[in-house]
Amino acid sequence: MTQKLQAPRGTYDVLPDQAAARRWIEHTAERLLEGAGYRRIETPTFEATELFARGVGESTDIVQKEMYTFQDAGGRSLTLRPEGTAPVCRAYVDHGMQKLPQPVKLWYLSSFFRYERAQAGRYRQFWQVGAEAIGSDDPAVDAEAILLLHELLAELGVGDVRLRLSSLGTAATRAAYREELQSHLRAHADRLSEEVRGRIDLNPLRAFDSDHPGTQEVMATAPRLLDRLEGEDAEHFAQVRALLDAEGVAYQLDHGLVRGLDYYTRTVFEFTSDALGAQSGVGGGGRYDGLIQQLGGPATAGIGWAAGIERILLAAEQRPAPEPVVDLYVAYDGPERRREAFVVAGEARRAGMSAQLELAGRSLKGQLRHAARLEARYVAILDGEGMRLMDMETHEQQDVDSAAAVVARVIKGRHPA
Ligand code: ATP
Ligand code: MG
Repeated sequence: MTQKLQAPRGTYDVLPDQAAARRWIEHTAERLLEGAGYRRIETPTFEATELFARGVGESTDIVQKEMYTFQDAGGRSLTLRPEGTAPVCRAYVDHGMQKLPQPVKLWYLSSFFRYERAQAGRYRQFWQVGAEAIGSDDPAVDAEAILLLHELLAELGVGDVRLRLSSLGTAATRAAYREELQSHLRAHADRLSEEVRGRIDLNPLRAFDSDHPGTQEVMATAPRLLDRLEGEDAEHFAQVRALLDAEGVAYQLDHGLVRGLDYYTRTVFEFTSDALGAQSGVGGGGRYDGLIQQLGGPATAGIGWAAGIERILLAAEQRPAPEPVVDLYVAYDGPERRREAFVVAGEARRAGMSAQLELAGRSLKGQLRHAARLEARYVAILDGEGMRLMDMETHEQQDVDSAAAVVARVIKGRHPA
């Protein structure tokens, strides 16, 4: 026997029963984001590998071990997009969007690819809804972006949400702080986990993420970046906080908040949900004022976030999907009447109805049972005696002489005088 094939590990099929919940997320995001001036963008599923190497950062987990990279037949190195910010920034530069009124606000809902350990809430192909506001370093852009994600999660009914907030300052503040932190880590190297010790040079900030007890003790006395913010960085962060306070958005300052991407500057944030298990991150983001320049574009400020669709679905209160409506079912007796049935169903659809016709050769009786199961509002019955229309609520039947008459009758039934 030929072995049956399965979807690759870490991927899944979206079945029709699950489509409604996803559509609801998409429509809610669309309404909220477009209402705030964000417009939809779709970038290609794969990009030049260099975009992510430069845009996400060589030292990140994503670039070091999570990318699906391949060579195409032309010998180019391509990568299935692991995240959305670098591609959107690439598109911003590609299309000269710096000439538009700033900030340019874009949103997307797309699938992303990371080679990680597959488990509940963690997949190798997953979906994110994301938003990017590019071209302004006004703290109001930060606060608005955070507020929009906050509202999106609230509207979707994501339970037990917490917002963690921090600021990384600019690249210069970060570099100085990084050295200070590295000295602290080296001074206590013997108490650190092997992994953290091995990454002191490459990525010392990651030590805050460790769940190793010794490392956690060392981090409790570590210097804090938030205490090192100066001048405009400190002022920027204070304003972001003031605006969030004005909107009544609660947050916790988190000195250990390290986002998995190298490009962040100033504001960073993450929403978690206690309704989720170990994979508690629902969405997050931050400011990336140096990123576009790093990609070869003009110096441009930007901020954005992304939220995982699977985790939203896991954490959201599930609402029952509305049953699809079938206005008309066209039943017919024998293949010689198929053509006529086909015409009636086509006419009904052109009139804007949802109409189905028999497609599996059932007996007339079987077709009526099937129509009842579909909860069809009307059934047109074509047999040797002509055509009748049956109201499935009252079971009244009425002779009709044409497809147009069927349509007229069903429309009348939908909008009774
Ligand atoms: P995590 O800490 O869970 O690995 P992350 O920091 O890698 O998350 P981001 O790159 O910021 O996540 O992506 C934003 C959101 O996308 C996450 O909060 C999460 O909801 C979702 N997400 C990230 N990776 C996956 C994945 N492999 N499967 C499903 N959702 C994911
Ligand atoms: Mg991750």
